[in-house]
Amino acid sequence: MTRPGDKLHDPAHIGTLERALELAERAVERYYAISPREWESRFRYDLVSSALHPELPFHPGALAQIALVDRGTGDRPPRYRIVLKDEELLALGDEVGDLQTVLAATLAHELVHLVRFASRRVPFDLAGPGILDEERIVRRITRESLEPVLPPGARRALERLTRG
Ligand SMILES: [Zn+2]
Repeated sequence: MTRPGDKLHDPAHIGTLERALELAERAVERYYAISPREWESRFRYDLVSSALHPELPFHPGALAQIALVDRGTGDRPPRYRIVLKDEELLALGDEVGDLQTVLAATLAHELVHLVRFASRRVPFDLAGPGILDEERIVRRITRESLEPVLPPGARRALERLTRG
């Protein structure tokens, strides 16, 4: 479903978005030794534009956010949704000169959060000073997991996108 503002799903960018998602999933699968099938079960999620979620609050400066669509029950896993800020991601892609790496780093970051929430390493509603530590951990894992799967030319962009 494409709506105004849903630019990454436009024909001009959808191929780059799909390649970036493949890289991000592969990176996180390798890091956590999980099976690709688990994106449909334990770690199920979908990917949409913030144009479809005008009500969702974003952290200041965030390029994407995870929403919990369904908390799940005993035998039904939770369901997550990664919401992308298309305009901001495209602008950063222009600035860095590598939209694929910008998207791969953003998606891998959100998938690392997702795996950590879904496997109960951290609570979904984490608040307070713990958030900063969690962000630091997630940025480090994002960099370490993506390094081996990105093309060599993407290294500088990756470092810039995951530093701090
Ligand atoms: Zn984060």
